[in-house]
Amino acid sequence: MSAISAMKGAREDCYIGVGANLGSAQEQVEQAIARLAQLPDSALLARSSLFRTAPVDAGGDDYVNAVVKIETGLEAPSLLTQLQAIEQDFGRERPYPNAPRTLDLDLLLYGRETIAGDTLTVPHPRMTQRAFVLIPLLQIDPFIDIPGKGPAHAFVPGVSSQTIRKI
Ligand code: AMP
Repeated sequence: MSAISAMKGAREDCYIGVGANLGSAQEQVEQAIARLAQLPDSALLARSSLFRTAPVDAGGDDYVNAVVKIETGLEAPSLLTQLQAIEQDFGRERPYPNAPRTLDLDLLLYGRETIAGDTLTVPHPRMTQRAFVLIPLLQIDPFIDIPGKGPAHAFVPGVSSQTIRKI
């Protein structure tokens, strides 16, 4: 970060994956997007359509998924904390890994940063293997590049067996 951007407070473009497969999943995702639009020191720049997808590595009903692009002055760990607070507000429980969820929020990309911490990995490590991330992400930004991995569209052939339908 340059001295000038530090003074101004750097703002980053971020992409957040939203998913739900319990309760009124479509409504939950719409309400979650409305909450993301109200994050402190942040602004909603774009949102994808809603998509219906078959669960990957998990059981239960189909998911409703979307991707949201925000710009934010929050640091990445603060943004993750905010996302987890929204998940809690939607009554998320974690009885076992990949359990069905009322709301799942993943920080996919935080500017061009790569972060490898105990509680936060960015770019999200599994985003290139998931149609429910790649397809909505590419709807928003067809030429988006994943830091350290390359253009997102290059990963689409690898997820072509995953069922995803625009709602
Ligand atoms: P999940 O149960 O799939 O929502 O995973 C949540 C856990 O993943 C939390 O403990 C987070 O600290 C961790 N995590 C690591 N990287 C990320 C990320 N990029 N976005 C969201 N959660 C993350």
